[in-house]
Amino acid sequence: MTRKAVALISGGLDSLLAARLILQQGIQVEGINFFTGFCVEGHTHAIRKHDRNREKRNNALWVAEQLGIKLHIIDIVEEYKDVVINPKHGYGANLNPCLDCKIFMVRKAHEWIKQHDFDFIITGEVIGQRPKSQRKRYLPVVAAESGADDLLLRPLCATNLPPTRPEREGWVAREQLKDFSGRSRKPQIALAAEFGFEDYAQPAGGCCFLTDKSYSVKLQDLWDNRGQREYELDDIMLLKVGRHIRPSSHFKLIIAREEGENNFLSGYRRQFQMIKTVSHAGPVALVEGEPLNPQQLELACAITARYSKGRDADSVELLFTNREQDTHTIQVKPLAADQIRPDWVIV
Ligand code: SF4
Repeated sequence: MTRKAVALISGGLDSLLAARLILQQGIQVEGINFFTGFCVEGHTHAIRKHDRNREKRNNALWVAEQLGIKLHIIDIVEEYKDVVINPKHGYGANLNPCLDCKIFMVRKAHEWIKQHDFDFIITGEVIGQRPKSQRKRYLPVVAAESGADDLLLRPLCATNLPPTRPEREGWVAREQLKDFSGRSRKPQIALAAEFGFEDYAQPAGGCCFLTDKSYSVKLQDLWDNRGQREYELDDIMLLKVGRHIRPSSHFKLIIAREEGENNFLSGYRRQFQMIKTVSHAGPVALVEGEPLNPQQLELACAITARYSKGRDADSVELLFTNREQDTHTIQVKPLAADQIRPDWVIV
């Protein structure tokens, strides 16, 4: 009887290799990729013009294609909020709740295998590799708290760990699994070469924006100024884009840094108040917060003009559009660089 495993596929090298090691044992493997909204997955590369030459691809789909397996992309945006907002095991260096995140994803995978009559779960975890969730003492926590217990197999470090049920039952040959540990990437790179994989993703800071310091600062600012720790998908997408400037607790400006971001932010024009430079080439800015009073509007426009080609002009014309889509033009003198207070600039 062919056994069936589901592999958690992030799009990185480790999950690719873990799935490949199990496939070569004649196991039927399908992949799951969870969409949390925080995924790095080419988002900023896709938007920003200066990244135009970088390849745009969904790495999880690329991995599935390389392996010749079916991939299930599952939207967990709503359920995942509780993991980010209330992580039982706390955060890593930034707002990354890695241990709770791993537990949650393995729990979801465990529910999935029960529903789909699969036998076990594979992850690409390696003992001792960042983040914290991959420290040796945390691996049993993930298995236990997710409910997957010994149906969770980590092929890249399995022989350093007690045998799991797939190994004990002879569904997989333990001796063909690996004993990787530590932070070195060399064993993975060597194994990738052995399998003939090239051009795989090597995300520098992890698979999601929550490990990114400046992103976490922006998310914390959002929570602090709303007076509650909550977010919608649009909020966390917009934290990936533009320059974020908060001149007051009442409003924040998200100012495009280049043409690609201008286009992207323009897509939100019906949800936000928007400022657009007219007389000079310049950015689109979204205003997040309450309707602006005249003084706030003038300040918001003067800041936006600062980032336009008219920054040294005596007067710049901008177009303001409110949420009801009423528009009017405004003339302002751009703020000088030293008038943009450092504490306004979130990152
Ligand atoms: S880096 Fe992000 S996706 Fe990866 S385990 Fe940590 S919180 Fe989860």
